Amino acid sequence: MVAQVKGPTDHVLIVGAGLGGLSAALRLAGAGRKVTVIERESVPGGRNGLLHKGGYEFDTGPTVLTMPDLISDALACVGEDIKDWLELIPLQPLYRAFYHDGTSLDVFPETDRMQEEIARVIGSDEAAGYGRYVDFVTKLYKYEMNDFIDRNIDSPLNLLTPNLAKLIAIGGFRKLAPKVNQFLKDPRTQKVYSFQAMYAGVSPQQALAIYAIIAYMDSVNGVFFPKGGMHAVPRALAGAAEKHGVTFKYNTTVTSVEHSNGRAKAVITEDGQRIEFDALILNPDLPVAWRELLGRTPPSVKRLKYSPSCVTLLIGSSKKYERLAHHNIHFGQSWDGVFDELINKKTLMTDPSLLVTVPTHDDPGLAPQGKSSYYVLFPTPNLDAGIDWEIEGPKYRDRMIATMEARGYEGFGDSIEVETMTTPLDWQRQGMERGAPFASAHTFFQTGPFRPRNLAEGFENVVFAGSGTQPGVGVPMVLISGRLAAERIVGSIK
Ligand SMILES: Cc1cc2nc3c(=O)[nH]c(=O)nc-3n(C[C@H](O)[C@H](O)[C@H](O)COP(=O)(O)OP(=O)(O)OC[C@H]3O[C@@H](n4cnc5c(N)ncnc54)[C@H](O)[C@@H]3O)c2cc1C
Repeated sequence: MVAQVKGPTDHVLIVGAGLGGLSAALRLAGAGRKVTVIERESVPGGRNGLLHKGGYEFDTGPTVLTMPDLISDALACVGEDIKDWLELIPLQPLYRAFYHDGTSLDVFPETDRMQEEIARVIGSDEAAGYGRYVDFVTKLYKYEMNDFIDRNIDSPLNLLTPNLAKLIAIGGFRKLAPKVNQFLKDPRTQKVYSFQAMYAGVSPQQALAIYAIIAYMDSVNGVFFPKGGMHAVPRALAGAAEKHGVTFKYNTTVTSVEHSNGRAKAVITEDGQRIEFDALILNPDLPVAWRELLGRTPPSVKRLKYSPSCVTLLIGSSKKYERLAHHNIHFGQSWDGVFDELINKKTLMTDPSLLVTVPTHDDPGLAPQGKSSYYVLFPTPNLDAGIDWEIEGPKYRDRMIATMEARGYEGFGDSIEVETMTTPLDWQRQGMERGAPFASAHTFFQTGPFRPRNLAEGFENVVFAGSGTQPGVGVPMVLISGRLAAERIVGSIK
């Protein structure tokens, strides 16, 4: 049995309508609790944010939507069907990968179709190796998901399950890069099936092979795009929660949590409200929630190491590039070097690899007629690097545009009509510790039972949800975190 909060739980207050908070709200509403969500912004979604500018609608955070079953699962808790709330377009290809030698590779989820593509671009031996790679990551998913990700883990001893032995046997605890290279011999496939480690804040050289599960979740299981943009996801979750009785208070910032004898009693808001509850879920970034809302930081949280960050450019443009897919990854020649720069040396990439997403490729309604929108993401170090983004930001913006033009986006700079840049400093101002939107890194000792627990130590009725706690970062994990937080309050919901 997993540990639960103590005392009454009739009224649960959730600070933050990020995906973690929303997921928890739906589970708790489904379990019959009175739920109040307090959100600082005027819309739900948090990092999965929305920006209206010059007739464009931009998603500000996640663009790669995987594992939509987890959204269905959250909605099903209140008896809602995802089909009534979201129109999900399966992307084909999932990604278009462009390489420094001028070749490109489309990534498809169907194994046979992907093998045809690999055989066409690289060769039949590589295609056969890809088949073996898919077997490997499919097993990883099967062995990892239920025992290690999708449940509350109170102690490393909880990991001692038959699936642990199976994971060890297939090499899950060896390093990711050599494991991937065991199946894939060409640097192009090696890059496209291991770059996902970056999402977890670790390099493929350092990461354990178990992290290839992220590649399974997107490149094998599929990537989707919600009509109306990614922000349609939090809108749907919040809409369903509201329909089933959850109260939302937007434009309301919580400034502190009132507590005594290890029991939290009420939140105090910036506009002077005092709102009582029985149990509390905190969805802001975990280290920030500890420091600013609970008033202290446990040593284990102080010691955390953070993932690299990123700079995004959201661009409204008069120019369309026919060769692009929805998601385009432009790999530089450097690979190990990119991770070394971002994670070890903490410097900007000298030979960048970057993501360019084109939301208007699948939903032209997100831009004025005839225009296109581009979401450009360059990984960068987090604020531990000491880069002064007030000074470097504008220079880096020009470097980003120049890099894109050199990678085939002819006339990109001149066709910009609207733009917004977000740097690590901006992420920090939005409440992300060290300006790291991908939270604390998923190194071995910051994963599973070693990641900060969702039960707040020293409090009997405070729980965390979101990417700073278990199981981790990204839309799928954060949706799971909401369920795990709710289970700390009402018991198993599965
Ligand atoms: C640029 C970028 C790209 C990404 N790309 C992807 C991707 O492609 N695929 C993917 O799966 N994941 C991606 N991610 C990661 C994913 O977006 C996050 O892991 C996830 O959205 C985090 O959700 P959360 O619930 O933990 O936190 P948040 O979204 O940060 O939610 C916290 C909420 O709390 C609110 N809040 C904070 N403080 C207070 C307060 N004091 N009072 C009231 N409210 C408060 C905030 O406004 C916010 O709404 C990306 C993230 C970013 C930033």
